[in-house]
Amino acid sequence: SAIPEFATISRVSTGLRVGAGATLSAVNESADVKASWGLLAEAANSVASTLIRNFATLGGNINQRPRCWYFRVEQFSDCYKRGGDFCFAVTGKNAYHAIIGGELCYIVHPSDVAVALLALNANAKVVGSGGQRDVAFDKYFVGPREDVMSETVLKADEILAEVQLPTPAANTRMAWIKIKDRQVYDFAVTSIAVAFTEEGGVWKDGRIVLGGVSPVPFRATVVEEALKGKKIADSIDSAAQRIASVARPMSENAYKVTLAQVLIKQAVLKALA
Ligand SMILES: Cc1cc2nc3c(=O)[nH]c(=O)nc-3n(C[C@H](O)[C@H](O)[C@H](O)COP(=O)(O)OP(=O)(O)OC[C@H]3O[C@@H](n4cnc5c(N)ncnc54)[C@H](O)[C@@H]3O)c2cc1C
Ligand code: SF4
Repeated sequence: SAIPEFATISRVSTGLRVGAGATLSAVNESADVKASWGLLAEAANSVASTLIRNFATLGGNINQRPRCWYFRVEQFSDCYKRGGDFCFAVTGKNAYHAIIGGELCYIVHPSDVAVALLALNANAKVVGSGGQRDVAFDKYFVGPREDVMSETVLKADEILAEVQLPTPAANTRMAWIKIKDRQVYDFAVTSIAVAFTEEGGVWKDGRIVLGGVSPVPFRATVVEEALKGKKIADSIDSAAQRIASVARPMSENAYKVTLAQVLIKQAVLKALA
């Protein structure tokens, strides 16, 4: 955030560019962000505390390491994610672990901002010694099924330089909800970002993305497909239920399936209201 070019927020003909060094407070307070990408401002503002948001950068938030209470403890250092051959969460305490997309490892991705960026169909501008490339956030995060030791597509000599947001279609509806265990600052138990277009209450196109349920921000395409072309009010209940078809909860976290179903309905109806 000390390098001005790296922290700039600017409108461009295709949408908005936000430097990875912009602080979360700068993102939340930007009039440009609020004007058309209010979902991102809300998600940024829900991270941690004011003090942390004043220092934490967009790039740092997106690239922070996922969370599992066994992961950082020396006693559990031989788990899959640390090169070992065991996952302590499977037979241990797993109330906050992943219900979707876990395999070998059930760690969860904690970035609130990343959930909003997927819903807004954003791209990452990645820069390294070999030049620069654009990566859709859909493809930016790497789950344990692909590679248990990686979390993003970044190579060792690359950084995230900029986030590029396309201008949303006219009348795009958006909503953000974050559920925490405590009503002070905390990571999401489960969060949701939705951004969609509709006509006369019929779902046209859009994205539903969940946080806190998977090792990567999880796009609920199974729900989006169930809503496509349908009257939202009539189909949201059955569409939201479909998240259960991709969930594999463990002994203590089946409540997250119900929570995700409720949040999907709440967020879509909140955006529609
Ligand atoms: C008490 C507390 C509560 C928190 N609550 C929340 C919460 O509710 N929601 C939430 O989303 N987060 C939460 N966080 C996480 C916090 O938002 C991140 O730690 C913060 O955003 C990191 O930003 P930073 O700029 O300090 O990054 P750093 O700590 O400097 O970096 C974090 C990681 O990202 C990498 N990195 C940084 N910038 C880049 C870049 N441009 N390209 C590639 N890699 C990069 C670093 O190498 C490092 O691995 C919380 C943290 C704390 C301490
Ligand atoms: S969930 Fe992942 S990080 Fe946590 S113990 Fe299992 S393998 Fe290790």
